[in-house]
Amino acid sequence: ASSSHTYTITVGKQLRLSPYKYLPDNFPRKKNRLLILADETVASYYLEDVRTAYAEKLPVHTYVLPVGEEMKSFSGYEELLSACLQTGLDRESAIIALGGGVIGDLAGFVAATYMRGISLVQMPTTLLAHDSSIGGKTGINHPEGKNLIGAFHQPEAVIYDIEMLDTLPKKEWLCGFGEMIKHGYIADPQLLEQLKQLNQCAALTISDKLLASSIAVKKEIVHEDEREQGIRAYLNFGHTLAHALEQTAGYGMLTHGEAVVNGMVFALYVGRRLGYDGPDAAEELRWLRAFGYSFTPLKQMDSARILQAMKHDKKNRGGSVRYVVLADAQQPIIVTLDDEQLLTYMD
Ligand code: NAD
Ligand code: ZN
Repeated sequence: ASSSHTYTITVGKQLRLSPYKYLPDNFPRKKNRLLILADETVASYYLEDVRTAYAEKLPVHTYVLPVGEEMKSFSGYEELLSACLQTGLDRESAIIALGGGVIGDLAGFVAATYMRGISLVQMPTTLLAHDSSIGGKTGINHPEGKNLIGAFHQPEAVIYDIEMLDTLPKKEWLCGFGEMIKHGYIADPQLLEQLKQLNQCAALTISDKLLASSIAVKKEIVHEDEREQGIRAYLNFGHTLAHALEQTAGYGMLTHGEAVVNGMVFALYVGRRLGYDGPDAAEELRWLRAFGYSFTPLKQMDSARILQAMKHDKKNRGGSVRYVVLADAQQPIIVTLDDEQLLTYMD
């Protein structure tokens, strides 16, 4: 186990209105200036609330970015660093990331590198961000691939006001459920069962208990293995194919959650083909379809291109693909697959 520092994760309603309650006691005394970062959509709903709440104790600045993954780029990064300088942030200042995974990753990377690192508070606003805001991974994309540039930087606190999920569009719910389902498959049979009971996310609501279970899986794994030397790699379940699908389809064509769910079903299939005893892909496909996910048979895609994209994944060593499969229910293991095997399974 290794952990650079501990921080609290609070999940509940209306937390955005009193953030200091969920921050370390000495936070307002130790900091001298805050910069809240949000994208245009989130800013239009919640920035005023959050700004007013923080302004009770500290000088607050805000900076609003356009919406979208494109901001997780060198130019978005540079723009934010300039904003930090113009605002006069120094080493005793803090950045508040108010948003989904895009703002969390980008603002986190700025906080990790500006003046060799300043404080960060994560205030996730999407379902997916229950995952991305925990664990300290921050970063931006390179034209050659997603998340290739980054740093580990733990926040001072994660303040998750799930009331903000009320405005989240349905497509984003499906995206976030992808990671919860993943946590169920790799570590928590009860969570998986409860998600199956939801049956479809038509309701677009979620209990804080279900969220807490999913957060607990992530928290425990990253606590054991902060820098991904070992078991943290299990969180890549479904992701090797997902990243390749996102890349070959073009970013934005397919949501990350949809890609992950497609990737998990393939991983279940591969596990069975290798002779393991995990859940049956065809059976799981049924409930996942009913839940709202769409699936494109890999047969109909350019398997050579997908294979190339999988081999490009930064998590691979040498020429073969490291793949997470289930040896049994909630028993992830890493296997190494060669090109020929992968092409056969995709067919
Ligand atoms: P996102 O931040 O772009 O948010 C998705 C959309 O929802 C945006 O249009 C945003 O404006 C909107 N939105 C956000 N909150 C809202 C709210 N409360 N109400 C209404 N609309 C709202 O995307 P995301 O799916 O949250 O995150 C995706 C990113 O997360 C990817 O870049 C991915 O690489 C990253 N990620 C990081 C980690 C990690 O460990 N650091 C893990 C998983 C994913
Ligand atoms: Zn993911």
